[in-house]
Amino acid sequence: MKDLDSLLPGAGVNTRLSHIGYDPSDYHGFVNPPVVRASTVLFPDAKSMETRNKKYTYGTRGTPTTDALAEAINALEGSAGTVLVPSGLAAVTVAILAYVAAGDHVLIVDSVYGPTRHFCDTILKRMGVEVDYFDPSIEAAIETLFKPNTTVVLTEAPGSNTFEMQDIPAIAAAAHKHGAVVLMDNTWATPLYFRPLDFGVDVSIHASTKYPSGHSDILMGTISANAEHWPRLIETHGTLGLCGAPDDSYQILRGLRTMGIRLERHYESALAIATWLEDREEVARVLHPALPSFPSHHIWKRDFKGASGIFSFVLKASDPQKVKPKAHAFLDALSYFGLGYSWGGYESLAVLVNLSDRKIAKAPTEGPVIRLQIGLEDIVDLKADIERGFSAANAV
Ligand SMILES: *Cc1c(COP(=O)(O)O)cnc(C)c1O
Repeated sequence: MKDLDSLLPGAGVNTRLSHIGYDPSDYHGFVNPPVVRASTVLFPDAKSMETRNKKYTYGTRGTPTTDALAEAINALEGSAGTVLVPSGLAAVTVAILAYVAAGDHVLIVDSVYGPTRHFCDTILKRMGVEVDYFDPSIEAAIETLFKPNTTVVLTEAPGSNTFEMQDIPAIAAAAHKHGAVVLMDNTWATPLYFRPLDFGVDVSIHASTKYPSGHSDILMGTISANAEHWPRLIETHGTLGLCGAPDDSYQILRGLRTMGIRLERHYESALAIATWLEDREEVARVLHPALPSFPSHHIWKRDFKGASGIFSFVLKASDPQKVKPKAHAFLDALSYFGLGYSWGGYESLAVLVNLSDRKIAKAPTEGPVIRLQIGLEDIVDLKADIERGFSAANAV
């Protein structure tokens, strides 16, 4: 244990995942941290109460359990500080709220997570913030979209459901030239496969609900900022009264320990199935950034270290009347793939994607877009399940 601090930064990713965030010698040698639940924290005397000169002061400001998770995330992200919030969506909305004010203009990628768009189109607009969406393939041409009042650029790569990559270094460079803060929803890659702050992003956002949880049973979000943008983030988080629960933090930290090996398996299985789907005659296109045929594959290859287990494919349906019936027949014939939202758990999921809210990055036209989360099951069984789906769709 003695040399952990000096050894860990240079260690392999699974070694780091096994040891970051908490040192067992801090708590009697127990391998995992205690779950400290708290509102009240007692002060030893009136003077320390007045000055709040104490590491822990109140439950909303963190406990040893939430700190263990936040420190682990800082180690993975290379961030100055991380705050925990009760869901991935809250991670996005709190991050945006930290850096906007009435009269500002924000640029949001058009392939953004749907509920993020809804927040921007409702609450942000009500607050008097102007919102524009940009083409995920824009690269350095984003420069033309900046206005004197542009304060925030939000990226999400790859984009939700259609998985377009974005040139993050080019977008970040343009944003910084115009004095805007760059936020990135990095849920898909996790910090194991992409570290946003190393590529010019200021604030990295995650739905820990997904791979860090890994078991479809916890909701949580993390927001991690570089040194320049950390004070504003921690201040906003405290002011809004948001906090991640200690029990949930414990579970997310537990999930992180195995996330590296789980992700390797998700990566491998999803890519194998995506490659297999490309050759199926029922499939018009596969939307997976690690496939060489995917339009923005070169960016994934340049910047990312891996791919997670979620991608989409376009089921061929030339007759517009049959788009939905074919998709429903496919989904209803699945047994191992559950029909459900979210992803990142051990089990496979399928969903018919709705892209009607897109403004620029339009939906594919060859048929319905079906998103698959490839879980930890055996590939042969998942392929057989998909075959059953195709048979049912072909019969429509
Ligand atoms: C799921 C998801 C979220 C929201 O996470 P919740 O914990 O379900 O609120 C945010 N961003 C992306 C990209 C997601 O996939």
